[in-house]
Amino acid sequence: MYLVYFDNLLDVRRGKEQIAFNRLRDGALSTNMIAACCKTLLCVEHPRYEGQSVLLFPDFCPISGLEPLPAASRVHIRDWPAEAYAKLPSLPGTWREDGRLHAETEEDKVAVARNTEAVRAKMSQDASGFLTFQQLLRAAGGQVDTLHLPEGAQSRSIKASLAE
Ligand SMILES: [Zn+2]
Repeated sequence: MYLVYFDNLLDVRRGKEQIAFNRLRDGALSTNMIAACCKTLLCVEHPRYEGQSVLLFPDFCPISGLEPLPAASRVHIRDWPAEAYAKLPSLPGTWREDGRLHAETEEDKVAVARNTEAVRAKMSQDASGFLTFQQLLRAAGGQVDTLHLPEGAQSRSIKASLAE
């Protein structure tokens, strides 16, 4: 899945009353912003972004007006079936295991860390005239619905819990 990050500066032109929030399951750290009318996933907030970025999934909601940068790195690479991952173009990637971050090489780990640090880097632009994800959540009364979706069978944490 292709993930794109933008500064947490949102300009809601219309339909603000349709903005709603959910999370995939109890304990999920990510909060999704959706359009209540059609359930379109608009963007995602995670505490690790430290309020500086939001995540977009162009596969769910195409981005118009600009061409996103090509993917620079991958995370959670052990969630992929190994044969399928081996067929992808080579990019630095990391996975979590035993509570630690792993990569094939130290250079890969550094490259991925540079990208994840950019996500929480202070926004370059002044926030005036924009709304943040957190402001929109407050405007919606702080209401976050829980979808109670199960984790996918390829999930590393599922596989780890089965191995115990
Ligand atoms: Zn809609």
